[in-house]
Amino acid sequence: MIENISKIVEEIFPNGAKLHEPIFQSNAWKYVKECLDTRWVSSAGSYVSKFENKLADFTGISHVIAVVNGTSALHLVLKFSDIQPGDEVLMPAFTFVATANAVTYCGAIPHFVDSDMDTLGVDPRKLSSWLSEIADIRKGVCINKRTQRPIKALIAVHVFGHPVDLDSLRDICDQFHIKLIEDAAGALGSIYKSNHVGHAGLATIISFNGNKIITTGGGGAVLTNNEKLAMKIRHVSNTGKVAHEHPYYYDTIGYNYRMPNVNAALGYAQLENISETLKLKRNLAQKYKESFMHIKGITFVSEPLHAHSNYWLNAIKISLDFPNEKEKIIEHFQSTPWQVQHVWKLLPELPMYQGLFTMDLSQAKALCNQLITLPSSLS
Ligand SMILES: *Cc1c(COP(=O)(O)O)cnc(C)c1O
Repeated sequence: MIENISKIVEEIFPNGAKLHEPIFQSNAWKYVKECLDTRWVSSAGSYVSKFENKLADFTGISHVIAVVNGTSALHLVLKFSDIQPGDEVLMPAFTFVATANAVTYCGAIPHFVDSDMDTLGVDPRKLSSWLSEIADIRKGVCINKRTQRPIKALIAVHVFGHPVDLDSLRDICDQFHIKLIEDAAGALGSIYKSNHVGHAGLATIISFNGNKIITTGGGGAVLTNNEKLAMKIRHVSNTGKVAHEHPYYYDTIGYNYRMPNVNAALGYAQLENISETLKLKRNLAQKYKESFMHIKGITFVSEPLHAHSNYWLNAIKISLDFPNEKEKIIEHFQSTPWQVQHVWKLLPELPMYQGLFTMDLSQAKALCNQLITLPSSLS
């Protein structure tokens, strides 16, 4: 197996490749330079709203608020979606740690659920039967009968950019009076059925961290079709400042989460090129897919049937018939210029998220034991 994988990554990336490195086109230098030349580097500059408007156009989601990172975007969405201390928020155990951290910042408690072997996101069938078993609706609120805590929201994560089965999750959330929030941190450019991801729930977040499909250095955005929520989040993300005769007037305890102009300029330049980037990503995924097609014991992770993925991170699944192979493969590549590595550790295995109330996580565990990410940079 090691030889097969080596041959494939070497053929695609003769000089080695990282998991995901950003690429910048010439306008990136031009726009960033313009910020420096005009000395508009912080959040008041014009690129912030230009970037927001372009993101709204591209995704078809009406309101976009650019912030300092994906984690802060999720924090604001949760905080202003009535997530209270002591509430439970459903989320996959198989996600990046930030998803759970943002919930914890609100004083709420992550309630981990299992993943689907194909979409890599939340398994709707398992979630539905789990909620039927443990939850009750009391006065319009979903209550976990075992912990007596309200279950207020589900964060649906589009893992590695692959859209999760949103329609099924939407139905479950409606049935159980739970808010649906999408963590599309790595899913810019991914399509579910005929829409960009982010239309199913109350709000969505995207990350523009250095390793995402486009980057602003560090950055993120809240996207929502809910105008009231958008106005609230825009206001508090900008320290809660209000137009007032006094220049330092604030009407709430706000957050300093607004994206600075230099970062937005960088994002704006890459967004101009997003179609080309997405095409290159799909070409790369296609090459991997064809190369792994005939290799015994390895399955390339393809987009779900209902979706058109941005293929942010390419991954393969090692068959359970080869139980010790994954560790050997990863160890082998550590001393090579190809970044072939582990996927996230399940969150309930991290020290701060141990011992919480969770459902059976057997599929998520299997995924973690089988998945490996491949170099997904664009050369
Ligand atoms: C990257 C990522 C985040 C966090 O975004 P930051 O911009 O790094 O704060 C959240 N959730 C998922 C699934 C991610 O991949």
